[in-house]
Formats: sequence, C-alpha cells, structure tokens
Amino acid sequence: MSTLLSVADVHIAYGKVEAVRGVSLEVGANEIVTIIGANGAGKTTLLNAIMGVLPLRGRTSFAGTDMAPSDIEDRVATGLSLVPEHRELFGTMNVEDNLELGAFRIAKAVAAQSLERVYALFPRLKERRKQLAGTLSGGEQQMLAMGRALMGAPKLLMLDEPSLGLAPIIVADIFRTVGELRAAGVSVLLVEQNAQAALQIADRAYVMELGEFVLQGSAKDIASNTRVAASYLGFQ
Ligand code: ATP
Repeated sequence: MSTLLSVADVHIAYGKVEAVRGVSLEVGANEIVTIIGANGAGKTTLLNAIMGVLPLRGRTSFAGTDMAPSDIEDRVATGLSLVPEHRELFGTMNVEDNLELGAFRIAKAVAAQSLERVYALFPRLKERRKQLAGTLSGGEQQMLAMGRALMGAPKLLMLDEPSLGLAPIIVADIFRTVGELRAAGVSVLLVEQNAQAALQIADRAYVMELGEFVLQGSAKDIASNTRVAASYLGFQ
C-alpha cells in the first residue's frame, strides 16, 4: 500500500483539555478508511486538525511531504479536501455557484472539466443547478458539499458524518458514491457515527473512544468484533 496520509502520535487540545490523545493513522492510495465512534469521541476534532483548521502536536505527512508548515490553502493545493459536518453551503447561492466556489483557485478550463465530472457523479445536482442551495433536501445538500470539495480534484477526500440527518435510502446513495470515488482513484477518510454503513464500504477502520483509537483493523474484522457489535452496531 502506498501511503497518502500519515498521522503519527497526534495530540489536539482545546485549551487545557486534550480532545485527541496520541492518535496514529494511515490512509493509502485508493483506500476508504473509516473512523467510527460515539458522539464526542474526537473524530471531528481530528479531521479539522488534519485539514489545518485546528493546531495539533505530532507528525503529519501527505503524499510524502511534512504537513506542519502548510496552511489550509497549501493542503487543498496538494490534494486534501474536507467536507465538514455541517456542510457549510451558501444557501442563497445556486448549486452551480456553490460548486464553482470549490474551484476558484484553478484554471477555468480545468474547472469546467471538474464540473462535468461532479455532474456525472451526481446527476441530481445537474438537474438542480439553478436551484438555491438552501432549498435543497438534506441529501442533495450533502451531495453538493461533496461535489464542491471534489471540484479541486483532491487525492484524499475527508468526509465528516455524511449520513447525518439523512434517511437510510439517501445514506445508501451517498455511500454508493463514496465507492465510486475510490474506483475513480480518490481515497476517502470517512468519519461516521453510522458504523454499520461505514464498515460496509470501508477497507479499514479505526474505533475511537475518548480521544484515542482503541481498535483498528480491516473493516471486515472490526465489523465482526463482538465489542464493536455490542457498542456500535446494535447487537448484544
Ligand atoms: P460528534 O460526532 O458529536 O461531532 P466527535 O467524535 O466528532 O463527535 P468532537 O466534536 O471532535 O467529537 O469532540 C471531541 C471532544 O472535544 C468533546 O469532548 C467535545 O466536547 C470537545 N470539543 C469539541 N469542540 C470543542 C471546542 N470548540 N471547544 C472545547 N471543546 C470542544
């Protein structure tokens, strides 16, 4: 496996409180890796710090380069992208304008190609390209947030709780698209409370509790772990 993202012994604190304590993880090229865990485990904090939104202590590298000196813009430029938990769309702008915001740093011709790729992945967004983002359904808003993050043609897409607030049928749709991304050569780091859906699609998984990884392995092994089944999959 050629490593794309490497995080080693990372600590992240809010003031004096450490929310993430000594976490290490890797995401390889063409891999879907999931971090599952309960509310408040530190998953969002970790993604935000990898993106450069929060400071961290520890070692991080992306595509073989130390990430410490780079800001958010540098990270986007090298192929890292985050779809935040609350989607953060511009509700009074239409679908296409929101997508184009994801490509403002890249040449017009490349952006046009990106737009076609995103529309091929999410035909619904093409149908609704003139509709205001704030009037889309929750599932369409999640597709738009993912589409905007894909406009810059990332190598690794980080998704924070894409299933949040969505009906199971829409979740299945979103997760199918995540699988298509891997087939198209995009790696995915997926944070989810919906462990069942995440473990079905992921190659590997980390289980996070109280700021630490307590288990890791292939998604198949994690899904059949009795502790995981009891705590996260609703089986006793
Ligand atoms: P969720 O699914 O609810 O987002 P999570 O696993 O992503 O949960 P985080 O949101 O990363 O967890 O929170 C980890 C810990 O850090 C929690 O104890 C939370 O209360 C705390 N925390 C999160 N954001 C802040 C903040 N801005 N200031 C202080 N503490 C915070």
